[in-house]
Parts: sequence; C-alpha cells; structure tokens
Amino acid sequence: MTGGAGFLGSHLCESLLARGHRVLCVDNLDTGSLGNIEHIRDAAFTFRHHDMTEHLTIDEPVDFVYHLASPASPIDYLRLPLQTLKVGSYGTHNALGLAKFKRARFLLASTSEVYGDPQVHPQPETYWGHVNPIGPRGVYDEAKRFAEAMVMAYHRQQGVDTAIVRIFNTYGPRMRPHDGRAIPTFIRQALENKPLTVFGDGSQTRSFCFVEDLVRGLVLLAESGEHLPVNIGNPHEMTLLELAKAVVVATGSTSEIVFEALPIDDPQVRQPDITRARQILGWEPTVDLEEGLRRTLAKVTIRV
Ligand code: NAD
Repeated sequence: MTGGAGFLGSHLCESLLARGHRVLCVDNLDTGSLGNIEHIRDAAFTFRHHDMTEHLTIDEPVDFVYHLASPASPIDYLRLPLQTLKVGSYGTHNALGLAKFKRARFLLASTSEVYGDPQVHPQPETYWGHVNPIGPRGVYDEAKRFAEAMVMAYHRQQGVDTAIVRIFNTYGPRMRPHDGRAIPTFIRQALENKPLTVFGDGSQTRSFCFVEDLVRGLVLLAESGEHLPVNIGNPHEMTLLELAKAVVVATGSTSEIVFEALPIDDPQVRQPDITRARQILGWEPTVDLEEGLRRTLAKVTIRV
C-alpha cells in the first residue's frame, strides 16, 4: 500500500491485517506519520520509507497494489503543488508498473474532486466534471484526473487488472488537528472552546463518510472485478453550518460559530450518487454522523 502511513492508509492497513493479509506499507511521510502506524505490532506488517515518484523494487510476490499516496488536504496540496502533481503522475506510473510486473490487482484512490464544482447533483460516475485546471486546486484535481486516465490506459493497453475508487469526504480518528479539513478543524476549535470558523455563509454542502465504512468499501472494490470508477462516500448531505452545529453538540462545547472568506474554487455542493457501489459491491455506509463523531472524539487523546 502506498500512502499507508496516512489517515486512510493506516486504517486500511489495520483492516487488511485483520483479514489475514501481509501488508507492505510504503510512504515518504510527506503528510503521513509513523505515529499513525506505530501501534501496529504484527509480523505480517512492514514499513518502507520510500517516495513513490522514484522506482520501487519489491522482492516478494504482490497480489494487490493499493495506491493512496498523495497529499489529500487542501492545506497540504497548496503547500506541496509540484509533489502533488508528481505523485499523481510519476507515482501512479510507478505503482501501476509494479502491479503490471507482479500481475497484481491495482486500486487507485481517486477523489470526488475529479468532479470539480459540479454542475450535476448528486454526482454519478458518468458525470465528467467541471474542474478549473489553472486554479490553485488544479494541482490536486488534475493530478487525480490524469491518474485515472493512466489507470485506464494501463488497463486497456497493458491488460492490468485495475480499479478506481472516487472517495468523497471521509473523517475519523487520526486526522491531524491542523490539516485544514472541516471536521478536524471544527473538533479542535470546539475542544478549545474557540470560535468555529465556517467558510462563506456555511450554505455549501458536503457529505461525510466515517472511515470504517470507507475502508470496507475500498476492500470490497479491490476484491471485485470492477474496472470503471466507483463512488464511495456517504450520500447524507449537509451544509457546513449544520456540520459546525453538530460538532458543537457532540463536544458539549461553548464555542460560537463565525464566518470567514470562502477559499478559491471551493465546491458549492458535494454528494455522491452511490447507486453503482450498492449494485456492484452491495456497499452502503452504516455509521451516521452522530455516531461517527462520537467514535472520532473517543480517540482524540491530545486536547489541543
Ligand atoms: P493523508 O495525507 O493522510 O495520506 C496520504 C499519504 O500519502 C501520507 O501518508 C503521505 O505521506 C503519503 N505520500 C504523499 N506523497 C507520497 C509520495 N510521493 N510517496 C510516498 N508516499 C506519499 O491523506 P488521506 O486522507 O489518508 O488520503 C489518502 C488518499 O485518499 C489520497 O490519495 C487522497 O487523495 C484520497 N482521498 C482522500 C479523501 C479523504 O476524505 N480523506 C477524499 C478523497 C480522496
């Protein structure tokens, strides 16, 4: 697994180990950390410090390549624009080359950002998106779109067994308090009893999936024979203002809510159409926001 020391990757490592797999976690620790995986004490688990933009050699056989390596939070990819483009292009090329060489099934962690600021709502996989290639977010959105194109080329031209998952906003334990994404930011602010900073007027919508549901969907897709993109996310849509209020309630905080300028190219709406995930994988989320926030807060060890 590339990006295995990140937020999603570390949960996926645990899930695969629990299913009896051996896991080689490859990560350059750009945005992930050893702290996310240091609790994993399992002879079937190995960590390799490696940058996926460089060629990777593995001696053992490989059955699955889960390619998650990429900065994922806007705060990270705005700070690391070239690294984001490189890991989406060279990094995906190297990971696909490995899958081809090992005759392994390959899964690309793509993103709902390939839809950009969508003109179709909710977003089905057949919608091609509305992305600004030259805006500051283009480094992430276009890297993932390029990565998807490369995955399909390896599949069509080289016969690699590939899958693409379009992940929608996911949250859970181990998100960094300062990673800039809405839920960890609101939780940090609420626990400090500081104002929760909502962008714009808070009417923009998102749909938040608990990490356990997401990881279950990823494994189901990897173990299926599907090649075309599949959305995995929670279709329950809410405004950012509703989310901020839910975090205040879940934390019992006395924080007020304040409003700040909307970032450039911030999507107005975001909601997955999960018809294909339901039909092909029999997957749908089971953890609602209240429960997911409770389980996330239970793991917050550092009161920041
Ligand atoms: P994360 O930043 O916590 O994890 C990404 C990991 O990739 C980190 O451990 C980082 O060090 C590693 N990495 C980055 N560049 C690398 C490189 N060149 N070589 C090796 N490792 C590298 O982010 P996350 O939220 O866990 O996201 C994981 C994947 O899922 C990403 O591909 C992201 O685009 C995708 N995704 C996540 C979400 C979400 O809501 N969390 C939504 C859509 C897509």
